[in-house]
Amino acid sequence: MKRIAIIGSTGYIGTQALQIVEKYPDKFKVAALTANSNSELLIAQAKKFKSDYAGICNADEYRKVKDSLACEVGCGTECLKDAASVDCDIVLVAVVGCVGLISVLAAIEKGTTIALANKEPLVAAGELVTKLAREKGVELLPVDSEHSAIWQCLRAGHKSDLKRLILTASGGPFYGYDKSKLFSVTPEDAVKHPTWQMGKKISVDSATMMNKGLEIIEARWLFDTLNIDYVIHPQSIIHSMVEFCDGSVIAQMSSPDMRLPIQTAFSYPERLESDVKPLDFCNMTFLSPKEDLFPLPKVAKKCLQTGKTAPCVMNAANEAAVALFLNGKISFLQIGELVQKTLDAATVREYGSAQEIFAVHNETYEKLMMDYN
Ligand code: MG
Repeated sequence: MKRIAIIGSTGYIGTQALQIVEKYPDKFKVAALTANSNSELLIAQAKKFKSDYAGICNADEYRKVKDSLACEVGCGTECLKDAASVDCDIVLVAVVGCVGLISVLAAIEKGTTIALANKEPLVAAGELVTKLAREKGVELLPVDSEHSAIWQCLRAGHKSDLKRLILTASGGPFYGYDKSKLFSVTPEDAVKHPTWQMGKKISVDSATMMNKGLEIIEARWLFDTLNIDYVIHPQSIIHSMVEFCDGSVIAQMSSPDMRLPIQTAFSYPERLESDVKPLDFCNMTFLSPKEDLFPLPKVAKKCLQTGKTAPCVMNAANEAAVALFLNGKISFLQIGELVQKTLDAATVREYGSAQEIFAVHNETYEKLMMDYN
């Protein structure tokens, strides 16, 4: 029986993770749950899964949660730390944004295996996170579908024979658009993803292709290589590939369903039956990235080369720009412009601690929110 803490249990990944716990009650048990502000769903989940701990980030909702549950209840960003520090076998970090770094660091400190669905902590502080995880012998199990694919494909050969990682990207809802059409897309258009039904932030990241940029950085830290390319594959059947030195390319395929990578991390090293639809062997196509229209993956690669606090600044600027876009304050094309402008103006520096990363993140994020609100 594996005890699992789910950080971000009411979101897109968290709710699907609970479906897996429900399907395998003899294999998985909920140890802790946290939600951002959806107190009603959190209360229902904590009761149903008999969680030992429930955390609500929005302090206004604390009383309601506390009065409804008999288990330990926490609130504020502290709960992201407390929930990830409970006694358990796996901490699934499934919140959105750099804030998930709080839980990642707490789980490492405690020595608990991390199932990582939240990519921003590795983008902002990948060098620090992987160093601390190595020191503590903590495994980082990927839940992002591309990285889960690569993780599985890498088992086909020796790491020393790896030539490159090839991430696949659906291309998002606007791949076929030209600049004039991109100029007028709305938040409603941007959150309609062609192959995945996801949360708003990641849907916008997919539409701008920043998601692939973030994933390139995530892959660099998870798999310790800089040889990372990506290709557009609109059907999202191949979740990513690895190429070995002999030219063999190994791909992992399935119907697009996030329950699979979540379950793969939970059950590792075993495999379990799943409810994922059998693969429909439709026509699979591959297209070239359009980096003139969607430059953010290139920007991310550049930040990776620059290193230091550059990826943290890029990520914070993107988090702010996406929030501003969703609130109708800036246009779709301004997201990329804001990220680039912020990077151009930033003083990139070395960092040694998570506190420094949080300071750079908050400063960058808050300045943009103030300038454009
Ligand atoms: Mg992904």
